Amino acid sequence: MNEDALITIIEKDKSLSYAGCGLPYYISGMVSEPRALMTTHDGDIRDQEFFGKIKDIEVLNRTRALAIDRKNKSIVIEDLKLGKRSEINYDKLILATGSKAKMPRIKGIDKKGVYSLHRVEDAEGLRRELRGNKAKDVVIIGGGLLGAVTAEALSRRGSRVNIVDSCDQILGFLDREMAYLVQNHFEERGVRVLLNSKVEAIRGREHVEWVKVKNYLFRADLIILSTGVKPEVSLARKADLELGSTGAIKINKYLQTSDPDIYAIGDCVENKSLITGKPVYTPLGSVATRHGRFAGINVTGGSEEFPGVLNSMIIKVFDYNVASVGLNEKEAFREGFFPVSVIVPGPDKDHYLPTAKLIYIKLVADRNSRKILGAQVIGRGDVSKRIDVIATAISAGMGVNDISKLDLAYAPPYSSAMDIIITAANVLHSKIEGNYVGISPLKLKEKIAAKEDIILLDVRSHYEYDRISIPGSIHILLNTLRGRLHQLPKNLEIIICCRSGINSYEALRILKANGFPNVQVLDGGILTFFGEIIETY
Ligand SMILES: Cc1cc2nc3c(=O)[nH]c(=O)nc-3n(C[C@H](O)[C@H](O)[C@H](O)COP(=O)(O)OP(=O)(O)OC[C@H]3O[C@@H](n4cnc5c(N)ncnc54)[C@H](O)[C@@H]3O)c2cc1C
Repeated sequence: MNEDALITIIEKDKSLSYAGCGLPYYISGMVSEPRALMTTHDGDIRDQEFFGKIKDIEVLNRTRALAIDRKNKSIVIEDLKLGKRSEINYDKLILATGSKAKMPRIKGIDKKGVYSLHRVEDAEGLRRELRGNKAKDVVIIGGGLLGAVTAEALSRRGSRVNIVDSCDQILGFLDREMAYLVQNHFEERGVRVLLNSKVEAIRGREHVEWVKVKNYLFRADLIILSTGVKPEVSLARKADLELGSTGAIKINKYLQTSDPDIYAIGDCVENKSLITGKPVYTPLGSVATRHGRFAGINVTGGSEEFPGVLNSMIIKVFDYNVASVGLNEKEAFREGFFPVSVIVPGPDKDHYLPTAKLIYIKLVADRNSRKILGAQVIGRGDVSKRIDVIATAISAGMGVNDISKLDLAYAPPYSSAMDIIITAANVLHSKIEGNYVGISPLKLKEKIAAKEDIILLDVRSHYEYDRISIPGSIHILLNTLRGRLHQLPKNLEIIICCRSGINSYEALRILKANGFPNVQVLDGGILTFFGEIIETY
């Protein structure tokens, strides 16, 4: 933005500007060397020389920033190679100190073979452990975004992987029934998931050998800690810059801290949620890189406003693509909305093509305003375009009806004539209007567990019903339903299930028209209820 600006980057490590998001692919072997994560599209290595010669930016690597003197506008730095301290002046300072891995308190955590995957050096250490196929049994502590992608990477290298998580689900950014689908897929690919479980101790002589979980000892040659990250704010705290309620650095819409000459960006700051307006901590590369651009404009005299975040994210877990944007249903409740949701499984392209793959979309809206609050899209098919369309729709403040009006491109190899996003919005609209009454697979499981007096009506084909069905369900083919209505009681709650929900909706219309007062459709059908088990046939 300003060729005359004197720009200096202070970095404590040797490498800078590498794609941290690519580290799991270096672990899996898909990326053969870390250098690849440091190159531009045109093949230049983004090192000290690149920044100096091409961008005229001085890089002081292996140099730690120790303190900020706000009054004199200077920074105390230490050259880590020579152990020498000096000062450097600034007119404008940008803090981009990132985050650090959270360290759970576990006895034996300091043993060899315990890693977190945060920096390129961690990845190199991990690759060394994996050499010669030494790490046969791996325990991953924490089934969040990083734990999940690392589990795939290590499993692909031939390790037996166990994910241990203290919550009742993996991938906390998803609702439970959606996380269950991913868990199913993990288990189908040989990764064991232990929920509601804590690693209580790490055992071994010098190197880890066992972990203790709920009085059981599990063999472990390698442990990966992925219990989340926290903002690196020590410099900011020392300089008395204001921190926000999330513990990250507080910034305004121009990315300025409480000192207008100091900006802060990336994983060390908190953002504003575009849905709730509240501060949120979103340590994502997609956010950090956009911050970088806005800060660059603003420190050179611009006044570009950073609007906030939707927490859009996407990961790949074996054959599953997993994406989410905005609020999930549990967060929407917590934030005081009146959420209404649907789950719609369907093909990502026209179903008659052999390339069509199943995806599940869960769309969440606010019943009062009808605004879209969030979505989760999961499956083997193309989820990324769906999540990005919904992210755009939420940014534009669209409601459920507006989604139905979107003019999306169509040809059989790319989508259905009515894309699954529009189908989901239509079902949600019907639900809000009261024409469609649905129950989530989670709620149904709770009702079954509580032995509630309900009728489960399965309207699928004989073939489908015989392969798998919910225990205790009554089987009536959809095309015989009108003639067999007398077999169903009117005084009980009836929950209808079919493969995906489409035929259940037909059955719901028939029952409603014939005076059955309490009828619901199982949202997402048997596909969502059982997940991977039935999806593959
Ligand atoms: C394995 C992995 C996979 C990921 N995958 C994704 C993904 O798929 N999608 C996504 O959106 N995000 C992903 N992320 C998150 C993403 O990498 C981060 O959000 C992003 O790197 C943040 O950029 P940053 O510049 O704020 O911080 P960082 O990249 O962490 O950079 C901060 C830098 O500051 C330096 N530093 C800190 N303190 C000092 C000091 N006092 N003096 C000098 N230097 C200092 C550090 O050494 C570091 O180099 C992933 C992260 C990891 C670890």
